[in-house]
Amino acid sequence: MAEQPVTPSLSAGRPFSGAMAANPGAAKAPPGPRKMVCDTSVLLAGGDPRGTPQDEVFVTPSVINEVKRPEDRERLETLREIGLKLQVPGAPALEAIEKAAAATGDGQRLSAADKELLALAMELKAELLTDDRSMQNLAASLGLPYKGYAQSEIKGIWHWESQLKCTGCGRTFDIEPPRAECTVCGHEVRKKHWRVPKGETAGSKKRKP
Ligand SMILES: [Zn+2]
Repeated sequence: MAEQPVTPSLSAGRPFSGAMAANPGAAKAPPGPRKMVCDTSVLLAGGDPRGTPQDEVFVTPSVINEVKRPEDRERLETLREIGLKLQVPGAPALEAIEKAAAATGDGQRLSAADKELLALAMELKAELLTDDRSMQNLAASLGLPYKGYAQSEIKGIWHWESQLKCTGCGRTFDIEPPRAECTVCGHEVRKKHWRVPKGETAGSKKRKP
């Protein structure tokens, strides 16, 4: 009896688009090949993160260094062969992520590797694939597109409220000021999205700027 050829098939797992949560804060991705940034658990989950073979998947070198188990390293090798790309985010994107993490209070829950992934997604204007709620939350607060993979239930856990907030001095506004410029310091005023735990009404709990 002829043996079946054993070909590692990355599309053999669960279809990646199966359980994704829509990002309420982000604009729709343009059609055509997409850029994606994956966190470690998504990379190792077993499916092919790409929607189409033309899509590009990026991670940071620290994600690769985090992976220690031989079977996981093997899977990474396979992903490298189909075009997984490594890139280090630049300092400006990393600084922007640090600032945003401090503002949303997610800074303590994010590792250096998490922040690098967020910075890379920002820099590449790529979609972030992660099930980490703090990463999702930070992505949402920055208007970065993201999707969950295994447990994409973020919409059921949190409500979202948004607030107009100065990117310079942090003052909040009820109505957008002219030209979206802060009336006090002149920096850009942007809409930030905040999470509100399930059961609370959006807007009932005002965050301090
Ligand atoms: Zn201001």
